[in-house]
Amino acid sequence: MRGATRLAALTLLCLLAPSLAFAQSRGELDRIAKAMGATNLKSIEITGSGTNYAVGQSAVPGAPWPRFIVKSFTRAVDYQAGAMRDEYVRTQGEEPPRGGGLQPIRGEQRQLFLMSGDYAWNVVNEAPVPAPITLAERRFQLWTSPHGVIKAALANKATVKDRVITFSIPGHMNVRATVDAKRLVEHVQATIPNAVVGDLGYEIRYSEYRDFGGVKFPTKIEQSAGGFPSLDVTITGVKPNVALDVTVPEPVRQAASPYAKVASEKVADGVWYLTGGTHHSVLIELTDHLILVEAPLNDERTLAVLNEVKTLSPKPIKYVVNSHHHFDHAGGVRAAAGEGLTILTHEVNRPFLARAVGAAATVSPDHLAKSSKKGTVEGVRDKQVLTDGTREVEIHQIAGNPHHDGLLMVYLPKERLLIQADAFTPGPPNAEPPMPPNPFSVNLADNITRLGLSVDQLLPLHGRIVPLAELTRAIGR
Ligand SMILES: [Zn+2]
Repeated sequence: MRGATRLAALTLLCLLAPSLAFAQSRGELDRIAKAMGATNLKSIEITGSGTNYAVGQSAVPGAPWPRFIVKSFTRAVDYQAGAMRDEYVRTQGEEPPRGGGLQPIRGEQRQLFLMSGDYAWNVVNEAPVPAPITLAERRFQLWTSPHGVIKAALANKATVKDRVITFSIPGHMNVRATVDAKRLVEHVQATIPNAVVGDLGYEIRYSEYRDFGGVKFPTKIEQSAGGFPSLDVTITGVKPNVALDVTVPEPVRQAASPYAKVASEKVADGVWYLTGGTHHSVLIELTDHLILVEAPLNDERTLAVLNEVKTLSPKPIKYVVNSHHHFDHAGGVRAAAGEGLTILTHEVNRPFLARAVGAAATVSPDHLAKSSKKGTVEGVRDKQVLTDGTREVEIHQIAGNPHHDGLLMVYLPKERLLIQADAFTPGPPNAEPPMPPNPFSVNLADNITRLGLSVDQLLPLHGRIVPLAELTRAIGR
């Protein structure tokens, strides 16, 4: 073969090699689909019960995720529409309550989570609430489900070798699934994008398969996220090819970027309350620099907050204070690091956040992954005072709070303002106080007394600005 011809032949072989590999894998995937009963399966509804866990909401970094009792779980999936509807009825799993994830639950809590295509939303009090931050995890649930993973493997040209199916959904997940000798999916490992840790690893075990009208489905599903259990359910009902209509509600369709909207309210000279979404931040101006309290949710939210800061003051941000490591409150720490900023957090969170800002985001490169800058993370213990000689900014640990071991609050003594997250979130005005009182709020009030802080107003990082009296009333004092 002449050089040029050989090169052409080699090039052709290289071009064909992946498709040849897929052609072989395709045959095996078809056999797996047949064994699973996936071939003609368009939708499915499963019901069960067990336990689930609030991923990213442990009371301390490195501890298992808080556990909840799932009295009932119903998941309906439409593979063709890429749609899913989850309904959970849950009760409190741990007494006393410890960690986040909407604890403490009093009585039963009903949750409705939906996704369709690129939209994710929740239904709260009958109203749809956009929740794009949950999309990556819901998409993962859909396309790693026992039959979803086979359909995704076929759609994404998976390779199959020695019972191991490997594929990527570009920008969304990398998946490795294993089938047993009967060609039933028994194990899935996946990596998905996560705002806090960059790449987040999940693992699923499917076992105790049963036949439901020609469709094989595991009656035991165990999942873990980041090395700790995230779901453990026993499936008691499976209905193949159910009618499922998940229409994206118009308000959800129109709210494409709910996190990018930032409103600022001047609370005192050089103090702004930055709201507009579910998680607030506070900007404090000193003589020659700024302090930003909280970089929440994700890149989109925190970069929007940082943009808003630029419109309020031209001074540089010296510190970003992180209230605690919970994923909703720390989701913008990587974005802040990508701007080269210094993050102040409680010493309990420091090693975790230092690792987080050093971690890779390979599945979906984020702001930090694309940035040439990197941030620094510094630890605070029980107290640190930042001052420029004219204004004092006190950072205190909310000691002994069951919500989190390393929870920080920020106190401005001159303005008598207290900024805190999750220890007290004011309810609607004139709502009846919770009975029994919320233990996280009781602990906050005890800390205010212990430290002798004179507080006029609370600036909660969820909810609205309230006088201290509202906290006192909420805990029945
Ligand atoms: Zn929290």
